[in-house]
Amino acid sequence: MLKIENIDLILSVKKMTSKVYFGSLQHGKANRFASLGAKYEKILESLDFSSIEKKDKVAIKMHLGFNDGYQTVPVFFVRKLVKAIKKTGGVPFVTDNPTAVYNAVNRGYTEETCGCPIIPVAGIKDGYVYTKKVDFKGVDSVDLAGVLHDADVLINFAHAKGHGLPGFGGVIKNIALGGFAAKTRWNKIHGVVHFDKYWDADKCTPEHAKKLVESCPEKCINYKEDKHELKVGFYNCNQCMKCIKADEGVGSLEIKQENYDAFQEFQAIAAKLVLDTFDKKKIFNFNVALQITAFCDCMGMPQPIVVNEIGILASKDTVAIEQATLDLIKKEGLLESSIPPFLNNVQLKPELHPFQQLFGHFKDPYKTVQYAEKLGMGTSKYELIEILSPEETAKMEPPKERYESEPTFF
Ligand code: SF4
Repeated sequence: MLKIENIDLILSVKKMTSKVYFGSLQHGKANRFASLGAKYEKILESLDFSSIEKKDKVAIKMHLGFNDGYQTVPVFFVRKLVKAIKKTGGVPFVTDNPTAVYNAVNRGYTEETCGCPIIPVAGIKDGYVYTKKVDFKGVDSVDLAGVLHDADVLINFAHAKGHGLPGFGGVIKNIALGGFAAKTRWNKIHGVVHFDKYWDADKCTPEHAKKLVESCPEKCINYKEDKHELKVGFYNCNQCMKCIKADEGVGSLEIKQENYDAFQEFQAIAAKLVLDTFDKKKIFNFNVALQITAFCDCMGMPQPIVVNEIGILASKDTVAIEQATLDLIKKEGLLESSIPPFLNNVQLKPELHPFQQLFGHFKDPYKTVQYAEKLGMGTSKYELIEILSPEETAKMEPPKERYESEPTFF
C-alpha cells in the first residue's frame, strides 16, 4: 500500500512534468478519423488556445524555406492552425526572415493558402529590431526581430529536422536563430563557435597551417596567410580528427566540445530572450516531425529523409517538446539507406543520437535542451499524451465515410 508521503512525492514529481501532445503519422484504420489530419485537429483543441484574447496579434513563427527547399511544414497544417486561432478572436500572421517571406509563394505559402498575412520578422530590410543586452563569450548585444517582439502570442511552429552545427533544429532553433536579424544570427550566434581558443598562432608556421588545411577531407579548415589566421568551419567538421593527426608534434590545434557547446548555449540564451517578450500563457510550441532531413530548411534544396516520418508534437513547454521530439527521433533511428553519401564519418553507434551519428559525437542535440532547462525555460520531464494512437483507433468503429461520387465540394 502507498504511504501518504509517497503519494505526495508522486504528485510533486507529476507536477514537474509538462504535457506534450503527440499525433503519429501511423494509423490503426485506413480512415480519416484515425489519420494525422484528424489527430492534428484534436491536438489543437487539447493545447487550449483560450488564453488568446480578442484582437491579440498572433505570430506564427515558421521557416518557410529557401529556393527549392519545399520540405518545410505543409501549408495544410498552417491553414488549420490559422482557422483555430481566428476562432479565438486572435489575429494571426505567419512570420519568417524577409527573403523566405518574399519568395514563400514558390513553396506554396501565400495569404490565400495560409489564411493570414505573411510578414517579414524584422521588416523588409531586416532592420526593424530591438537590441537586447547579453554577456556571452564576447557578445554584448543581439538584435531581436521587431515583429516577433511586438506580437502578443507566440506560436512557435517548427519543422523538426537535422542541423549541421547543433545536430538538430526544432522549436528552440526556430526562435533562437529565426527570431533575430541576419547579422545577429550569422555573425554573433553562429560566430560564437570561434570564441574559445582552439588554434595557437604562435606554435603554427604558415607552412604548417597549409598542411592542416590539406589534412581536412571536408575542406573546413580555412587559413588566411596575410593575417596568419586559421579558422575551423565547425558546421562541416565531423570530428574525424585527421587534422589533429597532422598536427602531431606541433600541438597548435584542438577540436574540442567547448566550441560546439558555445553555439548550443547561445541558442538557448537567444530563445529565452524571445520567450521573455511573451506572457507564458501565450506561448505554444509545435514540432512537425515529418520529412525529417539531415540538414535544415536554410539549405534550400530537397533532401533524402533520414528518419522515418513520426508525426506532430505540441506543448506549452518549449523544453519538454524538444526533449520529447529528440527522444522519438532517437527511438525511430536512422534510415541507413537514405544517409547522404557525402557524410564521411557516420558512426552507427546506438548510444549516440541519430543526429550525432550523422554529424559527430560533439554535436549532441540534447545539449541545447539542457541549457534551456538550466535557464528556466521549461522542464525536460514530460508526459507524452498520444492522441488517437494506432492501437486505439484499430479497436474503434470508423464513422461512415462519404466518398466523392459527384462534384459535391464538401
Ligand atoms: S576534425 Fe576532421 S573534419 Fe574536423 S576540421 Fe579536423 S580534419 Fe576537418
